[in-house]
Amino acid sequence: MSIWPMTFGIACCAIEMMGVGMARFDMARFGFEVFRPSPRQADLLIVAGTVNKKIAPVVKRLYEQMPAPRYVMALGNCAISGGPFAIEGQYNVITGVDNIIPVDVYVPGCPPRPEALLEGLFAIQKKMTGRRWWPEPQGGQL
Ligand code: SF4
Repeated sequence: MSIWPMTFGIACCAIEMMGVGMARFDMARFGFEVFRPSPRQADLLIVAGTVNKKIAPVVKRLYEQMPAPRYVMALGNCAISGGPFAIEGQYNVITGVDNIIPVDVYVPGCPPRPEALLEGLFAIQKKMTGRRWWPEPQGGQL
């Protein structure tokens, strides 16, 4: 079953998302490659990067423009908790995108490995359909 993620990257974790779309990790082989330029055509929002107070309303607006059922992945420590920017006295970073929109799957790392993003996509797919469509990785390789 295919997933149509939205083309939306905020910071460095988005580079890993791009890597997963390229030949080496090749998300196309699992049917996830149809990145959509519009939230109205997407069923997955991958929050890839640091969510600061300026971009937070944009993230929320994009989420609200997606048709239901819609899913959200927090990719990387910044999207999960503010990551390295969640320090005392900081004034600009949201300490977790789940403070503004619901999150279905969390993929930790700074940045997460591309394989971790693929596993996150498998988890989203399982949430969508109730079953895992791809075998568990053997020896850490996907
Ligand atoms: S988790 Fe690390 S790699 Fe990802 S956006 Fe934050 S600082 Fe960049």
